[in-house]
Amino acid sequence: MRVVIFGPQGAGKGTQAQLIAEKTGAEHISTGDLVRAEIKAGSDLGKKIQEYNDRGDLVPDEIIVEMAKPYLKETDSWLLDGFPRNQAQAKALDEALEDLGIGLDAAIAMEAPDEALVERLSGRRTSEATGRIYHVEHDPPPEDDPGPFTQRKDDIEESILHRLEIYHKQTEPLKDYYYARGILVSVDATRSIPEVTEDVLQAVGEDG
Ligand code: AMP
Repeated sequence: MRVVIFGPQGAGKGTQAQLIAEKTGAEHISTGDLVRAEIKAGSDLGKKIQEYNDRGDLVPDEIIVEMAKPYLKETDSWLLDGFPRNQAQAKALDEALEDLGIGLDAAIAMEAPDEALVERLSGRRTSEATGRIYHVEHDPPPEDDPGPFTQRKDDIEESILHRLEIYHKQTEPLKDYYYARGILVSVDATRSIPEVTEDVLQAVGEDG
């Protein structure tokens, strides 16, 4: 299974990608996680990309493409979360896959209105212990997750609105790109987490 999953920030693509990976055994490749890990490690690259991340801007295409590429050939079953984010990256992905002699099975677009997204993002917390994502009200952490629970630097209102604007301008047009290729699947992301998971599993033909 080789799938890309995209959607506006807060649509739950990270949560769903995590769940789908657990259920199917596919590798979850999140470029956002790669970016945050690099920043946390304090590497030269991390320092270079920190400002983009904190502002809610996209990291330059050539950097993110080079970060993502090695993971594509590590396993033959993966779920790309947060990449591609624009047409140039979609083309770079196509070229990288062509070089590897493989193709994409599906492109999943998670759909939700902006108002719902802002509310979700401002309550989002990540467990430092498990990497799991929660919401302070709708999906509070269970007792066996010790935390601590932190808020992403780009989950403050100013960055959230900026990221949504970038999504609509740069990432949303990928729906046309993948529709034209006949592999687009739109999923209603306003439904409950298990319902959305079921839709996505069905879309990738892994619903048993
Ligand atoms: P995410 O966790 O997917 O929301 O990504 C967090 C941040 O990482 C983004 O706001 C960007 O700064 C950076 N990032 C992640 N994926 C990409 C990408 N495909 N292209 C450019 N920047 C990215």
